[in-house]
Amino acid sequence: MPFERSVTVRVPAKVNVQLAVGGRRADGYHGLATVFFAVGLYDEVTVTPAEALTVTVAGTDAAHVPADGSNLAAKAAALLAARHGLAPAVHLHIAKNIPVAGGMAGGSADAAAALVACDALWGTGEPPAGLAHLAAQLGSDVPFALLGGVALGEGRGELLTPLPVGGAFHWVFAVADGGLSTPAVYAECDRQRALGAGSGEADVPPPTADPALLAALRDGDAAALGAALRNDLQPAALALRPALAATLATGGDAGAIGSLVSGSGPTCAFLAKDAETARTVADALAASGTCRGVRITEGPVPGAAVVG
Ligand code: ATP
Repeated sequence: MPFERSVTVRVPAKVNVQLAVGGRRADGYHGLATVFFAVGLYDEVTVTPAEALTVTVAGTDAAHVPADGSNLAAKAAALLAARHGLAPAVHLHIAKNIPVAGGMAGGSADAAAALVACDALWGTGEPPAGLAHLAAQLGSDVPFALLGGVALGEGRGELLTPLPVGGAFHWVFAVADGGLSTPAVYAECDRQRALGAGSGEADVPPPTADPALLAALRDGDAAALGAALRNDLQPAALALRPALAATLATGGDAGAIGSLVSGSGPTCAFLAKDAETARTVADALAASGTCRGVRITEGPVPGAAVVG
């Protein structure tokens, strides 16, 4: 019976190597030009046939993830089921390794994984474009978690163009104690802008991709990428969490060739020129007491994929 098996999907976290944020639109959203980069920190989502839609979560941060219908992975399963006239009768188990509320799109990753896993379990045969369409309804970061690699995200981040990348890059991530709310970080960004030229769409230059950053990615040039890293939300994240300045300084002093706050934070990302330097940066961060944990990884990596 094909319906009696379970399906496990592995899905990566992302870092935005560029996050250019436009002014606040009338609908409350901000236009973005962002470059998503999938890194080798993964969650795994396993779906198993069940009487009703249920969720369990395992991992260090599990207590901070909802285990009910508000979990983004549960919403994804329900959306795919509704589209095909099915009951979302599955148990979802999330093995969580991506920091929660860390600016690495962990919830979005789980939603993408649930779409792929349920599609395989139910044999609904959604083509990639169909999955991407459903993903965009779940959140702006969900389509990228399906795709992986490196991609330019426009609109609210959901309009994706895959980008060529000329090599692997070495990353270190400093995981903070506690998360930051993405809406709160955008609100702080608006507040800071309103003190200057203004925070509306007409007040802020339209967000565009930086040609130097795109060239650095294409050439696999870590030094150039390190110099081009940019996050317009960083001043807001630092205002809400001033301690992140010390984390960023520690990684820089230890030899990182670039650093930035990941997405809306508070995870900090450091680019290293090679694996050895990544280890040095990670050791310095771990010894500094400026973060809760440190992860070393490489990227880019592929998006959500069935592994079992
Ligand atoms: P982004 O980078 O997309 O802004 P984030 O990495 O900062 O997201 P998430 O880890 O996705 O943040 O979690 C944000 C909030 O979403 C959490 O505080 C949690 O309450 C809720 N949430 C819902 N489903 C999930 C999930 N599957 N995993 C993690 N958080 C979830």
